Amino acid sequence: MTFTFTPPRRATVPVAGSEAVFPVHRVYCVGRNYADHALEMGGEPDREPPFFFSKPADAVTLGPVVRFPPMTDNLHHEVELVVALGAGGTPAGEAAAGAMIFGYAVGVDLTRRDLQAAAKKQGRPWDVAKGFDYSAPVSSILPVGESKHPNGGLIRLAVNGEEKQRGDLSQMIWSVPEILVELSRYFELQAGDLIFTGTPAGVSALRHGDRVTCTIEGVGELNFTMGSE
Ligand code: MN
Repeated sequence: MTFTFTPPRRATVPVAGSEAVFPVHRVYCVGRNYADHALEMGGEPDREPPFFFSKPADAVTLGPVVRFPPMTDNLHHEVELVVALGAGGTPAGEAAAGAMIFGYAVGVDLTRRDLQAAAKKQGRPWDVAKGFDYSAPVSSILPVGESKHPNGGLIRLAVNGEEKQRGDLSQMIWSVPEILVELSRYFELQAGDLIFTGTPAGVSALRHGDRVTCTIEGVGELNFTMGSE
């Protein structure tokens, strides 16, 4: 077999403390998984459960400079715990879901908030708001050790040293195992899937040259600068 042209390179993410790289299969995202962010987006977290959307696998970027996307005047940061699956399948329950996890990373779900607001208003898809090139900066993946699943811990993002987002993983409406069980009802989960698990409140606009620093307690850190278009 010959390809008509050279196939695109598969997106990969480094693994902390290892020469190995993690090959990305798909990127799923959870919307409105922290009540305080759902409220700041105009939602009603008591009545509307979280939901899913996705980004292309090659939206994953490692920095240290992230290209600033065109076609937006309101690019927002959303710092998120990222789950990396080392195995696929349909988990029978939350324990089985936990066993599918290879490790965790820090990610930012970059969002063209102006285009998202227009899409919501018009009942249109979110692809141009969420799934653009370089829209998914992620850190190295920290493999799960024994009993190292982060059930709580500080999640934080600062822009140019000023704290914008601060929350705790324990505030997630759907826990990581609950997300995997729910997601597997819609999609065939596979090794290589990355799942962005939602963001706490405090999202705000980024500008060219902004320095973004993120930490998740027990998981790692992600630092990048917003470049030019
Ligand atoms: Mn998000």
